[in-house]
Amino acid sequence: MDLFKRMGEHGYGETHVCVDKASGLRAIIAIHDSTLGPALGGCRFVHYATESDAFTDALRLARGMTYKAAITGLALGGGKSVLLKPEGDFDRVALFTAFGRFVDGLGGRYITAEDSGTSPSDMAVIRAQTKHVTGVAPSQGGSGDPSPFTALGVRRGIEAAAKHKFGRSDLQGLKVSVQGVGHVGYYLCKELHALGAQLFVADIDDAKVETAVRDFGATRVALKDVVGLDVDVYAPCALGGAINDDTLSALRAHVVAGAANNQLWETRHGDELHKRGVLYAPDYAINAGGLVNVAQEAKGYDEPKATAKTLQIFDTMDEIFTRSTATGVPTYRVADAMAEERLVNARM
Ligand code: NAD
Repeated sequence: MDLFKRMGEHGYGETHVCVDKASGLRAIIAIHDSTLGPALGGCRFVHYATESDAFTDALRLARGMTYKAAITGLALGGGKSVLLKPEGDFDRVALFTAFGRFVDGLGGRYITAEDSGTSPSDMAVIRAQTKHVTGVAPSQGGSGDPSPFTALGVRRGIEAAAKHKFGRSDLQGLKVSVQGVGHVGYYLCKELHALGAQLFVADIDDAKVETAVRDFGATRVALKDVVGLDVDVYAPCALGGAINDDTLSALRAHVVAGAANNQLWETRHGDELHKRGVLYAPDYAINAGGLVNVAQEAKGYDEPKATAKTLQIFDTMDEIFTRSTATGVPTYRVADAMAEERLVNARM
């Protein structure tokens, strides 16, 4: 599996592996970089076709967390954990109890959180074993659902993009298409509607579209049409890979700014957006509000502080766009360079 080679290529770090015979837990904790602080990142609980796929996912995701924390100015490193979902029946509480012990054994160098396939109730089970967990319910002193914070940060990123692309300081009448009105997409519509933006929404779940139409006067759009709409901003808030060869040829928006992770199918698609004059808000920088919120929880939850820090995503995006304009370098590369600068400075 060439694990050491792969770790080297990704600039690691440490990778910890745990097998718990009693519960059937098979888990990986990847700590990419701890220069800025303890490594915080969610725990993913999904089926993997091969063990190699699970390691790849953990290594890739933890590295992404290093960059997200660094560009957002958080005192956190990058980590992620992956639990290989067992085939057939299993005892979920026993599994997450064992995982909690695994996390605790690292003594706080890794802090876990919710991710695909896990929920606040899993975090509560982990919490019984370790204090190094975030994303527990507010009733237990936690920060709860991160989505409103993620949406707030995305709204701030859209404001920064509107300043750079359209020379505007308000969003009144700005046309925004939102692809995916789930947790973040719904709250993003709420934020944008409050500032007078005109919304166009699409989702595979019709009930969610209906809610956005009802609550925010959004216009319903067919799934196949959402990317090609003649709007100012296209906000991908569903799955990764929204910007690919097919969608690029259809895209008419002047700005791409949304919550989804890994929006560029390949980095060359970021170069292509740049060439075409489409302003791209790098995903891990614009969608960091949720991380800001759980990071507050790790220090003793303080909602006003989390809100104030999330509002600053405007400044991060402003700097990315300014540097990109000044140097002619695509925004996604500027973001990487800014995150790396912060890491290099911290190591000096
Ligand atoms: P979610 O599952 O609540 O919402 C996603 C929505 O997209 C759902 O309503 C789903 O029906 C819809 N969808 C799926 N496929 C679609 C398609 N092909 N076309 C249109 N709609 C489709 O997830 P979420 O928590 O809102 O996260 C949305 C995105 O933002 C994800 O990529 C996630 O990784 C990223 N993100 C979320 C957070 C957070 O705080 N929740 C933080 C950072 C990044």
